[in-house]
Amino acid sequence: MREGIMKESLFGKTLTELQTIVLAEGLPRYSAGQIAQWFYHKKVRTIDGMTNLSKAGRDKLKKKYSTGLYDARSMQESVDGTRKYLFPTKNGQFIETAYIPEKNRHTLCISTQVGCKMGCLFCMTGKQGFHGHLSAGEILNQVVSVPENEKLTNIVYMGMGEPLDNPEAVLKSIEILTSPRGFAWSPRRITVSTIGILPAMKDFLEKSQAHLAVSLHSPFDDERAYLMPLQKKYPISHVIDFVKKYDWHGQRRISFEYILFKGLNDTPAHVKELARLLNGLRCRINLIRYHEIPGVSLHSPSIHEVEQFSDRLKTKGLISTIRRSRGQDIYAACGLLSTQEND
Ligand code: SF4
Repeated sequence: MREGIMKESLFGKTLTELQTIVLAEGLPRYSAGQIAQWFYHKKVRTIDGMTNLSKAGRDKLKKKYSTGLYDARSMQESVDGTRKYLFPTKNGQFIETAYIPEKNRHTLCISTQVGCKMGCLFCMTGKQGFHGHLSAGEILNQVVSVPENEKLTNIVYMGMGEPLDNPEAVLKSIEILTSPRGFAWSPRRITVSTIGILPAMKDFLEKSQAHLAVSLHSPFDDERAYLMPLQKKYPISHVIDFVKKYDWHGQRRISFEYILFKGLNDTPAHVKELARLLNGLRCRINLIRYHEIPGVSLHSPSIHEVEQFSDRLKTKGLISTIRRSRGQDIYAACGLLSTQEND
């Protein structure tokens, strides 16, 4: 188990939180800015490495705090270069982080919860049940503790868990990622996905500038509720009504994720209803070919069927992208590897 687990972590704290900590420990207020700079700009991983803090100050901090930085326990690499990391959690389980290299893009797909309580039928993470929220520090640790950290161009909150079911930590992690005193990332390189928790979505759109990706998967209420129980609480029509009214100014984008299940949500009737539902909204649909998971009677369409669906969308004026499947040989479908490990 990782070092310093019982102590509170310093990493993943905002400048204001660090100020409260240093003042309580009798260090000067400006030490907070120094700590932020060591963590977020210089990527230092130990308190002793923060050499412009006094030795006495560092010792005081070390008594109560750990950095909260820790390495992945293992890594598996796919033939296509995708790497999946397993990070340990406080309760002895594992979360997954996927590094996905493409020509000019190096994307990190990060987790926000241990397991998930949303129970989507097609999802292996959902089958694990819910085991806890990750803190902002644990979310950001995935970013700085993968060896590819310096190469990353994009971060997607699409790993294990529903990000907007853990909105406080997710928003705080985005604040630290994008603030000039944090990692100073552009919010345009960050995408948060959600299955449509409406109140948290409103909050997210107000408080951050990152892109939003909504998991759609079916335009029909009954079918979507069968796939995603949250539909009963927040129907997709309400979610889309809301995003249609939102002012998508500048370069901020909304996209929809659509997993294609053979013979279920891939018919011309679905295309027609999607066109009706999304009419007037400037957006992109990301088509994802379903990969079968054990114990679920949903099936993968062929590549040809996915292309056919994409072409039908096009005839209705909807822009779609077919997501290339990555890392299939290492169970890159989210949740499979950690389920195996947790078992
Ligand atoms: Fe949770 Fe997302 Fe899986 Fe649904 S698809 S169970 S929201 S992790």
